[in-house]
Amino acid sequence: MSLENYEPVIGLEVHAQLLTKTKAFCSCPTTFGSTPNSNVCTICLGMPGVLPVLNKQVVDFAILMGLATNCKISNRFVFARKNYFYPDLPKGYQISQYENPICENGYLDIELENGISKRIGITRIHMEEDAGKSIHDLDVDTLVDVNRCGVPLIEIVSDPDFCSSKEAFKYLTLIKQIVTYLGICNGNMEEGSLRCDANVSVRKKGESKFGTKTEVKNMNSFRNVERALEFEINRQIELVEKGEKVIHQTLLWDANKNIALPMRSKEDAHDYRYFPDPDLVPVLVDEIWKNNIEKTMPELPVAKLSRFIKDFSLPNYDAEILTSERETADYFENSVNLLQDKNVENYKLTSNWIMTDLLRVMKDEHVKIGEIKVTQKHLAELINNISTGLISGKIAKDIFTEMLQSGEMPKEIISKKGLTQLSDETEIENIVVKIIEQNPDETNRYREGKVQLIGFFVGEVMKATRGKANPKIVNKILESKLNK
Ligand code: ADP
Ligand code: ZN
Ligand code: MG
Repeated sequence: MSLENYEPVIGLEVHAQLLTKTKAFCSCPTTFGSTPNSNVCTICLGMPGVLPVLNKQVVDFAILMGLATNCKISNRFVFARKNYFYPDLPKGYQISQYENPICENGYLDIELENGISKRIGITRIHMEEDAGKSIHDLDVDTLVDVNRCGVPLIEIVSDPDFCSSKEAFKYLTLIKQIVTYLGICNGNMEEGSLRCDANVSVRKKGESKFGTKTEVKNMNSFRNVERALEFEINRQIELVEKGEKVIHQTLLWDANKNIALPMRSKEDAHDYRYFPDPDLVPVLVDEIWKNNIEKTMPELPVAKLSRFIKDFSLPNYDAEILTSERETADYFENSVNLLQDKNVENYKLTSNWIMTDLLRVMKDEHVKIGEIKVTQKHLAELINNISTGLISGKIAKDIFTEMLQSGEMPKEIISKKGLTQLSDETEIENIVVKIIEQNPDETNRYREGKVQLIGFFVGEVMKATRGKANPKIVNKILESKLNK
């Protein structure tokens, strides 16, 4: 039997750290990267006699995510204690949800190849607090930083609906897009603001029963999730092929070696002894609360994508790139709003500048679009000047480079450097005539039928005018003179 006779079954558990200013049950700040053990108080350390108080924003964010993922929002939810003992958990339990999670029975549609979409079920979304961090990679003993204790998370649990690592990758990309659009999580996987545990099993095709699953943890990028899943799927198929059994266990992904290794089984043998947290009252969510959250719902990526295609006649490819991040989409829309001539040609031009020039800068310099000195105002003015013919596309590239450095507006750069496009026909004609005279060989060959040489002539005219000649006029005049 071969690989094709098996089918993987995958379910994902995604933790998203919520962008609240303070922790879930106390008023300590959630700032990332603070001095270790400085953002703590008696409540998040679990001292006896103190009481947690629920941060309402945590609930608001969880409801928002539930609505964005088509979940049913519970009218009443409770918190539960999840008990386990680990150095980074001073309380000895984590406040989480077990029964009555805040959101249930939702779904998301992921786009597969050739426009086909697949619906992925969302089992539940629940709120919980984060644990601290043990730091092992030092020459000393293990150190513990409890700053993260009590930082609010939502856990988004999917149904076992994925049948490939590629589908899992698409779903994670979409989850990240949604949480960042909603502004409830920064989506940063390297900093651990978004974490994914992947549950995977394999079964023979046609089989309806699931195989035994394993859980793979410790991936710090979507690519690593994809690789870890591929590794684990192959490992399980090989086991089954050899007639051995898959053991129910947790594995840790090692991104350097590209393998997943079992965690010590002792840590894996959990009995969390969940019970309702007696310090926190059940919370009722009425229609008014839900409606108020619904009113704050921004336009979601899928809706924005189709609107961009419809309103701006953009190709699907452009719309996908522009809407991949909310800031980029906003940048595009703000630029377009500042255009003098709101037409399809200029919309596409705006898209091209963002997709090529701005995204390149973002990638090369690891900056966000809002951190670049070329703002929407700069870009719109640049395009306005191109579309009125004041500057050529080539000069515009130089102005762009200049703007990146200085942050000056196109107007200032154009007048400072005298970059206005040369559109005077008589002046261009004089230059063209001179260049034809200076290049008799090329002129003859052109006239004998080697018409590709037009490029050579255009280049010469551009050189002579230091790139300032209007290319449309240059072409027109060159053709009329050469074809004489
Ligand atoms: P556990 O009790 O081990 O936490 P759950 O039933 O809560 O398991 O499911 C956890 C995750 O594992 C969910 O995302 C779910 O879709 C997925 N899952 C459950 N059973 C399987 C299976 N046999 N193969 C792959 N994924 C599974
Ligand atoms: Zn605290
Ligand atoms: Mg579970």
